[in-house]
Amino acid sequence: MIEAMIKVGITGGIGSGKTTVCNIFKTLHVPIYNADTEARQLTDNHPEIVKRVRELFGADIYKDGLLDRKKVASFVFRNKDLLQQLNAIIHPIVAAHFNTWLSKQKDCTYIIKEAAILFESGGNKQLDKVITVTAPQHIRIKRVMLRDKLSEEEVLNRIKNQMPQEEKVKRSDYIIQCNDIDLVIPQVIKLHEELARS
Ligand code: ATP
Repeated sequence: MIEAMIKVGITGGIGSGKTTVCNIFKTLHVPIYNADTEARQLTDNHPEIVKRVRELFGADIYKDGLLDRKKVASFVFRNKDLLQQLNAIIHPIVAAHFNTWLSKQKDCTYIIKEAAILFESGGNKQLDKVITVTAPQHIRIKRVMLRDKLSEEEVLNRIKNQMPQEEKVKRSDYIIQCNDIDLVIPQVIKLHEELARS
């Protein structure tokens, strides 16, 4: 009998350590699909998306072949309808891209999809399990200020726009604490052993 492959989501707020945790899973040869990176790549390059996004916002919304994300943000900031139309263009194509990637994964008991807005987008519904990566807010702020050269206020504004960490925790099957105290690698190995066995 062919065992079904488990689809695991990894989410967490800005600066929580999602990518860091995924990099550890990668060393254990777990296939990882980074939804944010792929969506960005498809938004810049997929002919159907490019054509329809240009129709929605005007031809100059792409500069040197890249979507002007600042401009898009300013357009959709106060216009939920426009945001919905944008999502309706992008989401089905990204979902199909993920499914194609999924169909190519062989010889593994589980795969991971990393997505910052997994619950917000409803992406968790297509997955079997969800892991939330957590860290205290003051540590996340410090990390992102350092990594992205942002002010505390700018980081706080981004945090305010995301689902609160406690809410993500409540809705998850597993938690990985990526703080300054707990060791992260042993937590990943323990989870890997559990997921690889199931
Ligand atoms: P984002 O949603 O903003 O992309 P993320 O959740 O993917 O963030 P990472 O990029 O993994 O988070 O981590 C944010 C920053 O914090 C990185 O610079 C990373 O090197 C650092 N970092 C992550 N985990 C730890 C840790 N346990 N100890 C020290 N630094 C860490």
